[in-house]
Amino acid sequence: MKVYASCKHCKAELWYKTKAETRIELVMLKGKLISCTCKSCGREQQLDVNELKAKYSKTPQWIAGIIFCVGTLGSLYLGYFVLENIRNHYLAYCACSLLVMPGLVYGILHQEERRRVNAFNQMWG
Ligand SMILES: [Zn+2]
Repeated sequence: MKVYASCKHCKAELWYKTKAETRIELVMLKGKLISCTCKSCGREQQLDVNELKAKYSKTPQWIAGIIFCVGTLGSLYLGYFVLENIRNHYLAYCACSLLVMPGLVYGILHQEERRRVNAFNQMWG
């Protein structure tokens, strides 16, 4: 995940990409001090892991948005069949579940992202 801090020299936002999911994991992988070069002023500095913070990414929103568009189009398409074969309850069920799916997927992705960010941002000894 990406973790963020601010540059000690110019206060620009720095980010650091790591495989670690928590601060403890990051310390185990890289040690308590992480060296990072500022993209804004080009100065290298040592960042304490406690200064790094995880942020929510926009990816779940994007995925949910795409699923929502596809789901809505699919539902409209299925809707025609449902109207033509009104007695077919299975198709009606499909159309309904397609409308509910984007919200569900978004909820799951958002929850997972929140769990990851909270896990990283938790303070430790
Ligand atoms: Zn800087």
